[in-house]
Amino acid sequence: MVETQPLPADLHAEVRLWLEWARGAGGPWLLAEGPGPAFEGLAPAAAPGSGAAPEGAPGSRGGARPGARTSQAAVEAPPAPAPESRAERAEALAALAAEVQACTRCVLAGSRAHAVFGEGSPKPKLVVVGEAPGADEDRTGRPFVGRAGQLLTRMLAAIGLPREEVFICNLLKCRPPDNRNPRPDEVVACKSFLREQLRLLDPPLILALGSPAARELLQTRRGIMSLRGRFMRTPDGYRVMPSFHPAYLLRNPAAKRDAWADLQQVARALELELPPRQ
Ligand code: SF4
Repeated sequence: MVETQPLPADLHAEVRLWLEWARGAGGPWLLAEGPGPAFEGLAPAAAPGSGAAPEGAPGSRGGARPGARTSQAAVEAPPAPAPESRAERAEALAALAAEVQACTRCVLAGSRAHAVFGEGSPKPKLVVVGEAPGADEDRTGRPFVGRAGQLLTRMLAAIGLPREEVFICNLLKCRPPDNRNPRPDEVVACKSFLREQLRLLDPPLILALGSPAARELLQTRRGIMSLRGRFMRTPDGYRVMPSFHPAYLLRNPAAKRDAWADLQQVARALELELPPRQ
């Protein structure tokens, strides 16, 4: 008897991403109006995070059709609505921040000076998601305050967004030793904090900086080089612009041109008025 194996979650995510890309590139015959039988047949039985979708995909926030269903919705309940008022959101965020400060779910709790929850507006125009705190962030307990953070602040100012109008956080809330890449078990341990932050903040747009953040948000194994530069949707329906991490831009100044093009798309999407160039 031939035994059939379900597709591994990673492979499923890649296939889904490719199908969505083909659809966005003019192949509606691949995925007619919504996720059809062929699409649903690819869904793993119980694996949340089924893959990135381009802007306007069925089931996405702001673009969902009544009754539309994604494979993500089939395996994981969509996030509950965010509190309406700023005060309620601020209170819920403070309670979540207290949970993060006390968290010992992964080994990084043992080496951190501070857990770095994130900071900014409880009703942000944009949520910026980076990788993890560095040395300066670990020391101060604030996100993006080192050289890369200062560059991020200038980049946001260049599109007319002061830090106070965005919310800035990271995929991991504690610093990996020697700034090594996040390990998969650490991402698994920490990701519910980011998901809850996004639920409470309900941002119109997310700027995902670097491969680890973009991969986790979009549930793909693809790197930032192939993801950046176009709007995509997370399985939860958030609209995301993947772009380069400012730490990468400090090491590779030539990439700033692409990062600026990404930010200009963000500015247009948010209908921001660009300040005059200095
Ligand atoms: Fe907890 Fe996240 Fe810090 Fe690990 S990185 S200890 S999961 S808050």
